[in-house]
Amino acid sequence: MSIAFDHSYARDLPGTYLRVAPDPAPAPRLLALNTPLAAELGLDITEAEATAWFSGAALPPGADPIAQAYAGHQFGGFSPQLGDGRAHLLGEVVTPRGRFDIQLKGSGRTPFSRGGDGKAAVGPMLREFLISEFMSAMGVPTTRALAVVATGEEIWRETKLPGAVLARVAASHLRVGTFQFFAARGETAKVRALADHAIARHYPDLAGAEPPYLALFDAVAARQARLIAEWMGLGFIHGVMNTDNMAISGETIDYGPCAFMEAYAPGAVFSSIDHQGRYAYANQPLILGWNLARLAETLLPLFDPVPDRAVEIANDRLAGIADRYRAEWIGVMRRKLGLVGEEPGDAALADDLLAAMEGADWTLTFRRLADEAALRPIVPDFSRMEAWLPRWRARAGDGAEGRIARANPAVIPRNHKVEEALSAATAGDLAPFHALLAAIRQPFVEAEPFILPAPTGFGPYVTFCGT
Ligand code: AMP
Ligand code: MG
Repeated sequence: MSIAFDHSYARDLPGTYLRVAPDPAPAPRLLALNTPLAAELGLDITEAEATAWFSGAALPPGADPIAQAYAGHQFGGFSPQLGDGRAHLLGEVVTPRGRFDIQLKGSGRTPFSRGGDGKAAVGPMLREFLISEFMSAMGVPTTRALAVVATGEEIWRETKLPGAVLARVAASHLRVGTFQFFAARGETAKVRALADHAIARHYPDLAGAEPPYLALFDAVAARQARLIAEWMGLGFIHGVMNTDNMAISGETIDYGPCAFMEAYAPGAVFSSIDHQGRYAYANQPLILGWNLARLAETLLPLFDPVPDRAVEIANDRLAGIADRYRAEWIGVMRRKLGLVGEEPGDAALADDLLAAMEGADWTLTFRRLADEAALRPIVPDFSRMEAWLPRWRARAGDGAEGRIARANPAVIPRNHKVEEALSAATAGDLAPFHALLAAIRQPFVEAEPFILPAPTGFGPYVTFCGT
């Protein structure tokens, strides 16, 4: 069959990308194809086509591969030139649900590769598949994985590993860092063109606002605040919330060293390179505001031609981010706690639960709130929980047990299960990967082997970037 590609990014935004073809995979082998997603996108493709097209072995008809330019603050320091160093945007598909990018990741070097090899390994690409599918199953905005194809190449990391390409589907790959790339060069016309493209693509309702750029900023802030609140609800730690990894669409993007927290600790960090805990669990809402400040900086000339006035406008907006996030978070916590309606004490109830559950498994605690006997063994200091539970029962009322079972997943991609699946896949056995994938796609179903936290002896769990 074929894919009806369109290329609005390349058309609207000349000078923001380079045309470059993916490397042809020598011996591609399809490891995972997301058939439900393919169907949602209206892609009627065979496995042979997926294998060739999503590995770079052959270009699908109509593809016009490009590498996009972007910059980014990485761990607080600005890199004026990052860009797609190992990714190729094939084009966009227009579906009844909107326009989506199809991008290959791990598909070879580009002029943005710097020292990198442009490649990716089987393990990390299957990892992105698993975790993004879970996010999607939980209704959290995310890029999706369409396929993972082993290339037949070996790549060098700490050791030799089988190479793979991920075909990724995203509402777009516009990042905060895309705006920064051009703002840092003083190319205001390009920043304006990016903003117009973002509005047309992600926030069409704002097209009439005059001027629309402040409304765009507010809309991005609203979506990112909601996104981070959802992450916090799931105990998700992105691990590398650099500005180049924050999508203008409000989707979760660039699953690198991310992981789900088991024992609740505000300072939880998994990434091997996050020595300062910049992207620790409880810091993520602060980083949200920090990253949005970087976005606002790029838009200053569009907010107001008078610099001082523009800064005043931006500061006024940024001052509201913390409250906006907090409101989203309280909403997430109401849902997780099975609370109906809104009461003034809800925020304190949520805050006090966090204080009482330190060290307890994040996911299981919410599942077991209504079952004190099951909760007791997993909470290290039960005395505070014992004081908190009657308050929660009084507020939650009848039917709370059913509501928490519908709001809180039984199955998450637990670190030890993910590692088990990826090690097996790297060694050639995909059965554990597919079993875990099936379970995380139905996260409210109690699938026995996937529910419990890692056994003692697993860990401390460390994740890696750029793999
Ligand atoms: P990430 O850590 O995946 O968000 O990537 C940060 C930057 O490094 C981006 O510009 C990537 O394109 C680039 N990069 C990551 N891994 C590689 C690689 N293996 N080869 C070339 N560039 C890479
Ligand atoms: Mg990235």
